[in-house]
Amino acid sequence: METIALIAHDKKKEEMLDFVEHHKDLLSKFHLVATRTTGTLINEKFHLNVETMMSGPLGGDQQIGAMVATEKVHFVVFLRDPLTSQPHEPDINALLRLCDVHNIPLATNRKSAHIMLKYIARKLEDNQQ
Ligand code: PGA
Repeated sequence: METIALIAHDKKKEEMLDFVEHHKDLLSKFHLVATRTTGTLINEKFHLNVETMMSGPLGGDQQIGAMVATEKVHFVVFLRDPLTSQPHEPDINALLRLCDVHNIPLATNRKSAHIMLKYIARKLEDNQQ
């Protein structure tokens, strides 16, 4: 089963919850991992059994980065807040960099994430035929 990582900065958490609600059926077919607060909110609202790492500022982005590097994560949806400086900016950049190093699809805004999930749904359909 492939794994999708979900991360949202604080000002993007509502947007992430809307996004998950929209794609809930599809997401439920994957192993999901998330940084702690993001994953906890998703689990509380949708009971999707998201595996949670540490919170982003405490190392969660790095944990997900390690999973990208070891190819345990296959897609990343990272709803970043581009208008607020983050104390863990180096960790965020490291995660984005590792996605590029390992050619892992990375969506950093909702529209890209939506396109990514459409692609994933299509891929799933093709594999079922
Ligand atoms: P959080 O981490 O889901 O624990 O809030 C996300 C982040 O800020 O990188």
